[in-house]
Amino acid sequence: MAFRSGRHFLQIPGPTNVPDRVLRAMDFPTIDHRGPEFARLTQEIFERLKRVFKTASDVVIFPASGTGAWEAALVNTLSPGDKVLMFETGQFAAQWYRMALELGLSAELVPGDWRHGVDPAALEARLRDDKRQEIKAVGVVHNETATGVTSRIAELRRAIDGAGHPALFMVDTISSLASIDYRHDEWGVDVTVAGSQKGLMLPPGISFNAVSAKARAAGKTARLPKAYWRWEEMIKSNQTGYFPYTPATNLLYGLREALRMLEEEGLDNVYARHTRLAEATRRAVRAWGLEILCLDAREYSNTLTAVLMPPGHDADKLRATVLERFNMSLGMGLGKVQGRVFRIGHLGDFNELMLAGTLAGVEMGLAAAGVPHQRGGVMAALDYLAGVEAPGAARHAAQRGRG
Ligand SMILES: *Cc1c(COP(=O)(O)O)cnc(C)c1O
Repeated sequence: MAFRSGRHFLQIPGPTNVPDRVLRAMDFPTIDHRGPEFARLTQEIFERLKRVFKTASDVVIFPASGTGAWEAALVNTLSPGDKVLMFETGQFAAQWYRMALELGLSAELVPGDWRHGVDPAALEARLRDDKRQEIKAVGVVHNETATGVTSRIAELRRAIDGAGHPALFMVDTISSLASIDYRHDEWGVDVTVAGSQKGLMLPPGISFNAVSAKARAAGKTARLPKAYWRWEEMIKSNQTGYFPYTPATNLLYGLREALRMLEEEGLDNVYARHTRLAEATRRAVRAWGLEILCLDAREYSNTLTAVLMPPGHDADKLRATVLERFNMSLGMGLGKVQGRVFRIGHLGDFNELMLAGTLAGVEMGLAAAGVPHQRGGVMAALDYLAGVEAPGAARHAAQRGRG
């Protein structure tokens, strides 16, 4: 590959651009993970990490991708043949469901159209139907990274309570934690699954389970086989500042730095920044005359936008053009929507000018690849970010309100 000057724009919805501060924080010798210095690192990380999950209970860190943390959530709480209820919001939800089947659970997938989040009323109705309370867990993807749709977790919690059902509530926040408002304790989530390489701004390689007391108690009788993923040893070891096996030490240096950065900015400001940049992106998409995959304005994702291609035009060809010409990676359409959708990641270490560059890359790519569109998407986004109402913006806002 020829050298390409300037920064590559990694605008896939994870892994995200790793900030320089995090890169530098990792560039230190690996230390003894059983020595005194390590315990201080662990202590700071857990203190700060719990504030990001908004939990007072335990958080477990695995040297693994997010998929490992999915598995840990299931094997620590459930027994062979247990019923698990999941919802097909997109590719990631469908993959978690397949994992549940492979682990020997009796998983049920409520079909979806990949354009909506989980319907609280449907969840409540399904749980009310379960008179014998055979469903042991409900698994939901908070932000479906394949579609750019964010499910309403607080409302889903109310639906479970409305049905008076005791199932465990498991939520995948791999592409929402530290970007979109999330509250493990307040929303009564039993297991929150998260990963390092999206909102947490780290390279891939570590993942998380936040674990409620109820989930930990369920673990006492859970019979699915587990060894590497066992929470109990982790939690016990972590309390003394250590891990039962070698942790990803240098990624933990990076995590400490990322957590400091999130607190310096303030979590509410982080969420507001993601909301603002996402809204600007959607305005650009509408100005191009293209369609946002998500159909419900209440469920627009603030970390990525999935965009439908005009009929007869291949999203992967557009992405290849953008990569070749402008050195930017956009997210591909996954599963059912491959070739029909491209995804713009706007999460993590990201700001207005980076978004402006990203949208400019998309708009130039649309032109270069011969995709029919209207010009002016970038301008619509810039007007919004500058606080200038452009002609037509009010109309778009009204359309958005109708969802
Ligand atoms: C990225 C992602 C995953 C998969 O995580 P890996 O780190 O690739 O294993 C799962 N769920 C969601 C919602 C994701 O965005």
